[in-house]
Amino acid sequence: MAAVSPATEPIYLDHAAATPLDARVVEAMQRAAAEAFANPSSPHAAGRRARAALEDARDRVVALLGGRSTGGMRDRLIFTSGATEANRLGMLGTAGATPGTVAVSPRDHGSLLAAADDLAARGWRLCRLPLAADGSTLEAAVRLAGSTSGRMLVSTTLVCGQTGLRESLAAVAGAGVGPRLLVHADATQAAAWDPLDFAALPVTSLALAPHKFGGPRGIGGLLVRGGLDVAPLTPGPQELGLRGGTEAVSLAVGFATALEIAVATRAEAAGRVAELRERFETEFVAVAARHGFAAVVVGRDAERAAHIATVAVRGCDRQTLVMACDLAGICLATGTACASGSSDPSPAVAALDLPDWVARSAVRASLGATTTPADVATAMHRLDAVFRGLAEAGLLAAPGPG
Ligand code: PLP
Repeated sequence: MAAVSPATEPIYLDHAAATPLDARVVEAMQRAAAEAFANPSSPHAAGRRARAALEDARDRVVALLGGRSTGGMRDRLIFTSGATEANRLGMLGTAGATPGTVAVSPRDHGSLLAAADDLAARGWRLCRLPLAADGSTLEAAVRLAGSTSGRMLVSTTLVCGQTGLRESLAAVAGAGVGPRLLVHADATQAAAWDPLDFAALPVTSLALAPHKFGGPRGIGGLLVRGGLDVAPLTPGPQELGLRGGTEAVSLAVGFATALEIAVATRAEAAGRVAELRERFETEFVAVAARHGFAAVVVGRDAERAAHIATVAVRGCDRQTLVMACDLAGICLATGTACASGSSDPSPAVAALDLPDWVARSAVRASLGATTTPADVATAMHRLDAVFRGLAEAGLLAAPGPG
């Protein structure tokens, strides 16, 4: 199998794992690092300047996400280290001391599943919800809420990181979301592609991280509904008393700048990227077929975000395909980055009503705002060589069972 020469630039199709930093974000962060370097808690002019930059970044993020002040209660944004911590704070921090019922599903990120396990260890009843045919889960959550007494905490992932399938929040809209029915939404894969208006969403908290849309890594945020009690995971005076530790001002400025750019360009970028994603999927299936192999697109007709294509080639193990593509200069993933080393199939694909071989073979290509038509064309050219090489090596010869 031909490997690309070291001089060949890889085609990067793993934007759901990380995106390149936008140059405008770098510039804003550099300025903040130079001008607002002081500790925001310091009682002097330099500290006040850092505090002002931090609070300005916070206000911009809250406004861009549709946070509001209602009846004197302000929605609050807590900066975290990323979406993993924001998810954890959104689950464990809002749960309260009295055990109730916590619901998660296979479309959720590992950080949500781990938080639910921790709640179960504290006496909460843990329910693992099934996925409907379209990959959504909230109808099952609402049915469960109807038959559950006491407090319930539902985790929902607005756009699944493994398949790109959207969750429809319509199911919970009339279910009385509030202090008794808490809904924590992971918006990490949604924020760049789908409009988010916290005021209108039937959720109590929302997590995201800017490194999924041209922003820096090492920062994320949890937006919490005004009036909702939150207990810190790391006590300390910073972040409204909800996260101890000196705040990363320049990262917060980078977060706000990246979100501003993403929101301003979202409609155009989502349309353009969805078209490129369609082209990628259609041509992927055609290239595989040219070499005699059947490929399918997971969730092709379902509601999904613009950037993720999950494709499976019958008879081809997903690790083999990702490795062969890497050698040929195409960066794909077997699932979410933190689970990529795992040899288990992606739970979000395995839970869909599809033949077993699809989960064993599913790989994820994720496009970004910087992906071009030439990237897709070059990827297809290289993919042709990949399939030819795998077929010659006999690696695709035996269609898997199921
Ligand atoms: N939630 C989803 C849906 C994700 O895709 C990811 C990362 O890929 C995370 C949470 C975790 O984000 P972070 O790496 O910022 O902790």
